[in-house]
Amino acid sequence: MYLCAMNLFGEEFFEQEQPTAQAVSYTRDLWRDRLIAQDELLSKLQSAHRLDRIPHCSLFSGSRGSGQLIAALHLAQTILCTEDKAPCGVCDACHRVSQLTHPDLHFSYPTLGSSSLARDVSDQWRESVHQNPWMDISIWVGRQDKEAKQANITAAECRAIIEKLSMKPFMGEKTVLILWLPEFLGKEGNILLKLLEEPAIGSYIILATNDQNAILPTIISRSQLFLLKPIEPSKAVLFLQQQHQLSALEAHSIFLAADGNMSLSVQWAKEGKFQFLELTKSLFQKAYVAEPIGMLEWIDQFSQLDKEKQFSLFQFVSQMLSLCIRAKNNIVESGVSENEMIGYVLKLSAGLNWLQIEQINDLLDDATMAIKRNANIKIFMLDWMIQYSKCLRQKNEN
Ligand SMILES: [Zn+2]
Repeated sequence: MYLCAMNLFGEEFFEQEQPTAQAVSYTRDLWRDRLIAQDELLSKLQSAHRLDRIPHCSLFSGSRGSGQLIAALHLAQTILCTEDKAPCGVCDACHRVSQLTHPDLHFSYPTLGSSSLARDVSDQWRESVHQNPWMDISIWVGRQDKEAKQANITAAECRAIIEKLSMKPFMGEKTVLILWLPEFLGKEGNILLKLLEEPAIGSYIILATNDQNAILPTIISRSQLFLLKPIEPSKAVLFLQQQHQLSALEAHSIFLAADGNMSLSVQWAKEGKFQFLELTKSLFQKAYVAEPIGMLEWIDQFSQLDKEKQFSLFQFVSQMLSLCIRAKNNIVESGVSENEMIGYVLKLSAGLNWLQIEQINDLLDDATMAIKRNANIKIFMLDWMIQYSKCLRQKNEN
């Protein structure tokens, strides 16, 4: 912590508080421990740190769900840790990076709206990263309570980045900015070129991307690239099993249902069993039977969920439909059908034709937009349920 004052000559100076004799000790918490099978990358970063050659602009790249944001947070923890063997995971700086509250660790990320800033939704951002550091753009956008569809990193945000990195560090001598998904910069990225070219001493920019090909080449050429390996399914399943105390079958089914998407897998694993399975089953059943009372009961149950859960339910149904498509193409492994969810999807896929799957997906999109628009959800769902029912009761032509 710094105290700012004016000395006798009117010059601003900073005085560091003396550390207390008994430093607070924190439980070891390292972002590194959340990465799966990225040993090569970790040893590269470790040797860069040992040789004092951590680049001023790093780019973590990999396919969706490889853990780019976690790798970026690990590097930030390494840079900001105050111990020799960084990151130690127990010092005050490491603790603050784990908590995402380090004053010298800044974040930029896509937001909704043409002049929005990351700081407008910083609380939501921290909460989302804590809940699921594997999250992808659809989970992040789904959490934002705005109708605008297009996420982007705005010109105003680029200027805010320059401002953040020009500030004197609060706790030490280094400042880190993690820019999540620079592919959302578009041409606004040009505003950052000078900063990337000549960063202030002690400032580090860490980019984490899911789509390196969509980043401006001028940004890539100014960064040092670190590639993350795609996660092998067996390792991902083991990770889910160990981190979320699941059986092998449960972990395998979650990973399969999420189509290998770690972001969704972690979300579902955290929720415990598939919490929306029963509600999804009853949606299909009530819509198929088409009895008004049954349909109204379902709508009642649905409207009691908060918005986020309503989105998650639709995302779950949509993922089930994509599993139906894989089942129809015979690419669902045998051996997992004992799982309740997979067993149900296999039966469902036999009862739905391609057109119905497409129509249900369109209906899910409509409902998602209606929730975002803050439409009167009960009234909207009445009409929606009737359409859903019509779609299911069409003459089945597989
Ligand atoms: Zn530390």
